Amino acid sequence: MIHLLGLDDYGVDIGEIKHMPQKTAFVYHPDYLNHDTGPEHPERPDRLRVSLAALQQSDVWEQLHHMDPQPATIEQIAYAHNPGYSEHIRQSCESAVPLTYDTPVVQESFDIALLSTGGVLCAAEAVVTKKVKNAFAMVRPPGHHATPGQSMGFCLFNNIAVTTRYLQREHSVGKVAIVDWDVHHGNGTQDIFYEDESVFFFSIHQSPLYPGTGSRNEQGSGKARGTILNVPMPPGSGDSEYIAVFEDVLGPALRDFSPEFILISAGFDAHYLDPLAHIDLTAEGFAKLTDLVLDVAEEIASGNVVSALEGGYSLEGISESVVAHVERLNS
Ligand SMILES: [Zn+2]
Repeated sequence: MIHLLGLDDYGVDIGEIKHMPQKTAFVYHPDYLNHDTGPEHPERPDRLRVSLAALQQSDVWEQLHHMDPQPATIEQIAYAHNPGYSEHIRQSCESAVPLTYDTPVVQESFDIALLSTGGVLCAAEAVVTKKVKNAFAMVRPPGHHATPGQSMGFCLFNNIAVTTRYLQREHSVGKVAIVDWDVHHGNGTQDIFYEDESVFFFSIHQSPLYPGTGSRNEQGSGKARGTILNVPMPPGSGDSEYIAVFEDVLGPALRDFSPEFILISAGFDAHYLDPLAHIDLTAEGFAKLTDLVLDVAEEIASGNVVSALEGGYSLEGISESVVAHVERLNS
């Protein structure tokens, strides 16, 4: 029995219980809208505008712990990228030269990309220091296609990979697991951790689809063999097929690996309305996937979950899925 004031029957300070972190952090910055990719580009500012509006109209908005991010430092970017990589990105943005045919930039894009990575770092810092129970960083540009030395697929810096190494180097976190449910294979994240046994990387994605990697045979190398788990899904797969993979494949793999922290590369382009892919998840499906990750995190990782936005190109699909995802994080 818990009394309202003082100590409970077991001598636990009620003041401490009242101050235990119960909220979900929400990290966002209006500058994310200034990475202007042009009117025809699918990875456009409206993705965040509509998702923010949907969250603000939902009941969960008032319950969130709202946080303003700081930019990641060049040193932090180098946790996951080659020396000189960030300088190459800076120079390309300065002259507004597209990084690849599908990754246009404007002069502001370099600073915004640092702020995007910084958003996920901010979310991770809040969770690892127990200010909040978990966190969602609604950032752009996304990150999971960025390899150690190559930006591609709308991604400049690999936000989730930098954050993984940030937790390990600046907060002494040991093993980290990354769950990537963006409809595209997280090739950049896989490349960065392919020989790193301290990081488990799971990607469920449509196949065949851009970028063409992510077969079951790609499993990590050396001591890290087995720490990469790819589950390609045929077009037309939906909620029930995804839920079965999470319950039967991902859950046991996470329990085996036993990470201290779980990061989610939360793309919402596996939504049935998405124009870039042909997977048929619903917002309720994303809510269920969120619950399944939270359940495992509660069991083995002290509930430590940080989720970062990746793709999602149907405005209706991303906005309703973001709301469903954040509602479950905060439940
Ligand atoms: Zn994607």
